Amino acid sequence: MHIKCRQFIDNHFSEMVRDLAALVEIPSVKGEPEEGMPFGKGPADALECMLGLAKKYGFHTQNHEGYVGTIDLAPELPTTLGILCHLDVVPAGKKDWRSLPFSLYISGGKMYGRGVIDNKGPAIAVLYAMRALKESGLPITQNVRFIVGTDEESGSSDIAYYKNKEALPPRVFTPDAEYPVINIEKGRIRGEFSTYSGFAVGSRSILSANGGTVVNAVPETASAIVRGFNTAELGEAARAFPSLGFSFVPTENGHVQVNITGRSAHASQPERGNNAVTGLCAYLGTLPTDDETAGSFARIASAFAHNDTKGESLGVAAKDKESGALTLVFSILDYNEGIINGKFDCRFPVSETLGGMREKFTQSLTSFGMRAISLDGVEGHIVPEDSDFVQTLLRVYGKMNYGTAKPLAIGGGTYVHDIEGGVAFGAEFPGEVNNMHGANECFSTASFRKNTYMFIEALEQLII
Ligand SMILES: [Zn+2]
Repeated sequence: MHIKCRQFIDNHFSEMVRDLAALVEIPSVKGEPEEGMPFGKGPADALECMLGLAKKYGFHTQNHEGYVGTIDLAPELPTTLGILCHLDVVPAGKKDWRSLPFSLYISGGKMYGRGVIDNKGPAIAVLYAMRALKESGLPITQNVRFIVGTDEESGSSDIAYYKNKEALPPRVFTPDAEYPVINIEKGRIRGEFSTYSGFAVGSRSILSANGGTVVNAVPETASAIVRGFNTAELGEAARAFPSLGFSFVPTENGHVQVNITGRSAHASQPERGNNAVTGLCAYLGTLPTDDETAGSFARIASAFAHNDTKGESLGVAAKDKESGALTLVFSILDYNEGIINGKFDCRFPVSETLGGMREKFTQSLTSFGMRAISLDGVEGHIVPEDSDFVQTLLRVYGKMNYGTAKPLAIGGGTYVHDIEGGVAFGAEFPGEVNNMHGANECFSTASFRKNTYMFIEALEQLII
C-alpha cells in the first residue's frame, strides 16, 4: 500500500466513523414500495446518503431508479473492476441489544449497530479506499465501479434490475462475507414432495406429525400424536435414539404427543445440527402400529436417514474436489389425513448441474414411492482458483494478513452468486464474532481500518 494512501486513511479515520454513524442512523429495513423507492423509504434514504457522501468527495455518482447506486473512480477510463456492497439491513429484532440498534455506539474498541458489518461498515471502507487512491494522485489506468445495492437481504432483486440495465464489470468482488476469498458457491435445490401414508385407521396408529419452520435450516423440534400407546412403551422405543431429546405428553382424548428435540443449524452446514424431523420419522417408523402409518414413516426414514446429511440414503449423493460433498436437509414435515408432505434443502457441488440434479431427485423420490411437487433451484457458482483475479486477491490478503491462504468453497450463496466473475472478499476475518443479523451486531474499529487498507491494496494491484 502506498504511504500516501495509508496516511490519508489515518488522517481521516474519525471522519470514516462519522460517515458510518450517519448510515447506521437510517433504519434501512425493506418497507412498502413508493415512487422511486422500490424497497421503501429506509433503503432509499440510505442510498441517497451514500451517494451524497460520494458526490461530496468528488466522485461521479448515479442513482439507478432507487435499486442501486453507482460510484465511479475514473469514469473516463475502461471499467475493469466492480465492488459490490449493500445498504439494506435486516430488522433489529426485539431483544438483547445493549445499545440503540440504529445509533452507532462505540465501546471497548468495537462499533455496535445494525448494519455495521452487514454491510454498511464495509461499504464505507470501500468508499474511503477509493477516496484515498483518488487523493493520492497515483496513476490509475482503469475505472473501478462501486455498486451499492438496497435489496440484498430479501433476494437481491436490486442486482437483477441492474444486470438488465447495464453490463457488469468482468471482475467483481463483494466484502459481504468473509476472508480470504470465496470463489465457489454450491448450487441449491429447494424441493417439496408428497407421499401417501395410509389413513390412521388402526387402534394403534400415528395420527399426525409435523416439524421444522423454515426450509433452509436443520429443524430443531418435531412432534407427533399417536394413539394406542402408553408413555412407558414410547419411552422404551426412544432408547434407540440417544442423541435426541424426547418428551411424551398425554392428551385430553387419551392419545400421546411425542416431542423430539434436536439441534438447529444452517442448511449449508447440516453436519453441525441434529435433525429432529428425520429423527421423528425414524422413531415413528419403529412403532408397532396396526395400520400402514408406521410403515410409511419407515419408508421415509429409509430415504431421508437420520444422521445422513449427504443424500446417500436417497441416492443423490455427489462430491467434487473443488466444492466438497452435496448436503441434504429434510427440513419441514407435515402429515395429516393420509398424506405426508415434506420440504428439503439441498446444496450440490459445482460439478453437477441444476437440470441433472432435478432429474436425480425426481427419480430417487419416485423409487421411494414419493412424488416431487416442486424442485426450484439455482446453479452453482465458480471463479477458477487459478484465475488472475482470485490469485491477486489471495496475494493481497496474504500480504495484509501476514500469511498464505486458500480460497473457500461454501454451501451458502453470497451477493455475487448470480454475477459471472464475482467473488466474495471480506469483510469478516477468520475467528471474528460480529453477531451478523443478531442483537449487538458489531465491527471492531481495528477491522474497519484493516479492511480499508485491504481494499486499497486490492485497488493498487487491480487498477493501477
Ligand atoms: Zn450482507
